[in-house]
Amino acid sequence: MRPARALIDLSALRHNYQLVRETTGAKALAVIKADAYGHGAVRVAQALETDADGFAVACIEEALELRQSGIGAPILLLEGFFDADELALIVEHDFWCVVHSLWQLDAIEKSSLGKPLNIWLKMDSGMHRVGIHPSEYQAAYQRLLGTGKAAKVVLMSHFSRADEPGNVRTEEQVAIFQAARQGVAAEISLRNSPAVMAWPDVPSDWVRPGIMLYGATPFDQPQSVADRLQPVMTLESKVICVRELLAGEPMGYGGAFVADRNMRIGVVAMGYADGYPRQAPTGTPVMIEGQRSRLLGRVSMDMLCVDLTPVQGAGLGSCVELWGKNVLASEVAASAGTIPYQIFCNLKRLPRLYSGG
Ligand SMILES: *Cc1c(COP(=O)(O)O)cnc(C)c1O
Repeated sequence: MRPARALIDLSALRHNYQLVRETTGAKALAVIKADAYGHGAVRVAQALETDADGFAVACIEEALELRQSGIGAPILLLEGFFDADELALIVEHDFWCVVHSLWQLDAIEKSSLGKPLNIWLKMDSGMHRVGIHPSEYQAAYQRLLGTGKAAKVVLMSHFSRADEPGNVRTEEQVAIFQAARQGVAAEISLRNSPAVMAWPDVPSDWVRPGIMLYGATPFDQPQSVADRLQPVMTLESKVICVRELLAGEPMGYGGAFVADRNMRIGVVAMGYADGYPRQAPTGTPVMIEGQRSRLLGRVSMDMLCVDLTPVQGAGLGSCVELWGKNVLASEVAASAGTIPYQIFCNLKRLPRLYSGG
């Protein structure tokens, strides 16, 4: 069998969830959209179900998959419904529902529902993507109550720059949110992972951690909570071929790497078809037999090359960690000009093997 695989450590996941609790003292919805950032939503939900206050996903398709796998915990739809037709299923399965736009409010008003909904009313406090404008927020809230179709309303907003420590934009968004919801006594939810990790003074009865649950940091600099996270995923494979290169010999597509001395290189069964970023350049860190080394040349569809020259005892069959507990996904992402969110979500074709469940 091809040795490329993703190992998922569910005890690390639970550790990270508990770290959220410890750090915030708040209720926490584990964000498991996009197949739990590539970690497998059903397995992640099962591993967290006894601890978690609930889950959050992007859409009803993701929520239904969880219910159909026996997950009974609350599940929030982060974009609410895309079409009013979904309301019947939302009621049937007791999904919690974000309302981010007035058209959704219209649809709720017009609907006839067997049971009232649990609504998270989203304000655009400065991200300027979705959310109800601050000046229309109180009226929307009153309209929602007036429909008689909301059992409970949580007030929410989302930060655009919480991953930039000290950027005043986060405090501005909090101030806009607090001013616009003044006088409304309801629970609030503001904090995503970067806000959980670096903005302790931001109020939030409910927090919505995603990336930090998987043990990756959204920051591009050292951060104290990040140091206590445990990476959940290890992307690994093996050396399937060893080559000796003479100084001056090019290697791989485009001859993008040229040996600057006599070298030993290893070909690893992992490529961009598995989701390893093709943009990762020569020098991107890898771990071989417990020693750090580097990627060489262009990543191809099913294979990539690594430098074995400095690695004692490495050869055919050596285990290679592309990211995991030693080489952090955030380091690889930064090297490839992207973010750990994307490299996790891009994974495909690989078997996922779970432990610690
Ligand atoms: C994805 C998402 C989150 C989680 O964000 P992280 O940065 O991964 O913690 C929180 N809230 C909303 C509305 C989201 O869409």
